[in-house]
Amino acid sequence: MLITWWYFYLAARSFVEQSKYCSTLNMASILQRLITPLFSGPPEPPRNKVTVVGVGQVGMACAVSILLRELADELALVDVMEDKLKGEMMDLQHGSLFLKTPKIVADKGKYYSVTANSRIVVVTAGVRQQEGESRLNLVQRNVNIFKHIVPQIVRYSPDCTIIVVSNPVDVLTYVTWKLSGFPKHRVIGSGTNLDSARFRFLMAEKLGIHPSSFNGWILGEHGDTSVPVWSGTNVAGVNLQTLNPDIGTENDSENWRETHKMVVDSAYDVIKLKGYTNWAIGLSVADLTESIMRNMNRIHPVSTMVKGMYGISDEVYLSLPCVLNSGGVCSVVNMTLTEDEVAQLQASAGTLWDIQKDLQDV
Ligand code: NAD
Repeated sequence: MLITWWYFYLAARSFVEQSKYCSTLNMASILQRLITPLFSGPPEPPRNKVTVVGVGQVGMACAVSILLRELADELALVDVMEDKLKGEMMDLQHGSLFLKTPKIVADKGKYYSVTANSRIVVVTAGVRQQEGESRLNLVQRNVNIFKHIVPQIVRYSPDCTIIVVSNPVDVLTYVTWKLSGFPKHRVIGSGTNLDSARFRFLMAEKLGIHPSSFNGWILGEHGDTSVPVWSGTNVAGVNLQTLNPDIGTENDSENWRETHKMVVDSAYDVIKLKGYTNWAIGLSVADLTESIMRNMNRIHPVSTMVKGMYGISDEVYLSLPCVLNSGGVCSVVNMTLTEDEVAQLQASAGTLWDIQKDLQDV
């Protein structure tokens, strides 16, 4: 009798234990059952985060180019157009399987906490010129937008490098420098990086070689008054000016000067055809991002503070050959320019200062 009761007691206890085990199993989520955490602290902050402010045509071309170059462990997007922003974020996230950037986040322009701990912030936000609107008026409208954006960037990523892309890029880079309080080497304008890429493409096409094998620089202001450095054009170390002393001048029977005109006109031509330019600027910004992110010490023509160089005495940003590494612009190459090229740079600086000196609240 006692044995029967003892047997019954053991069977009942085993049933209770088994039920407890089963209910514990049922309560644990798939995640808890699948993965055993070895560390339960806060998540690691990103090491190579990039933020793109403005998800228009240019911003998204920059974002996609940076993603495809595998430069960032986190990408943050900011814009004031909430639906467009969310749509762009979701569309990119759906491509995560094909990317090496594990985190893509976004939030509307009011809340910049999403941008926290960025190493590089690319600013492409801005308004376009309206019919009959003066350049100065456009600049002032973009300055007002930057007055909201820049302090937020600084607040959440005080150690980042800012790459300004919005136009007029040289003036807005100066404005960003002023508003941020950052040292000059951490505020860069995309400047004539794109103009130089267009120049190298067009010249190389004429010569039947790849653009990377044609060396030539467009300096100064991004756009209409950019300065082609004909005296420095070369292929495999062969200076083209030694082959044709008139290259780039009005007296040149081969009319190489036309190539620079094509560079200046190319933005207008593309805009006339498709409404905006975006792919080439996106690719060129990704190239700058790579030099900074990978600490490469590569030289790019980008907009930097040129006061004190080439006889320029005003605080203006213009493009010169800059060495880019993880600190931003670490140095500027003192290019040997002709008197005429220096005069053109000084004229660009004068034009920019005329606009800047009338800006309000900078
Ligand atoms: P776009 O109109 O398509 O996009 C601009 C975006 O900025 C929009 O999505 C808009 O909502 C956003 N925006 C406006 N105010 C904002 C704010 N306060 N905060 C966050 N986002 C805001 O224009 P786009 O074609 O992408 O051109 C963007 C800029 O890039 C323009 O200034 C253009 O001239 C310039 N750009 C520069 C170069 C260059 O070489 N530097 C080349 C091409 C274009």
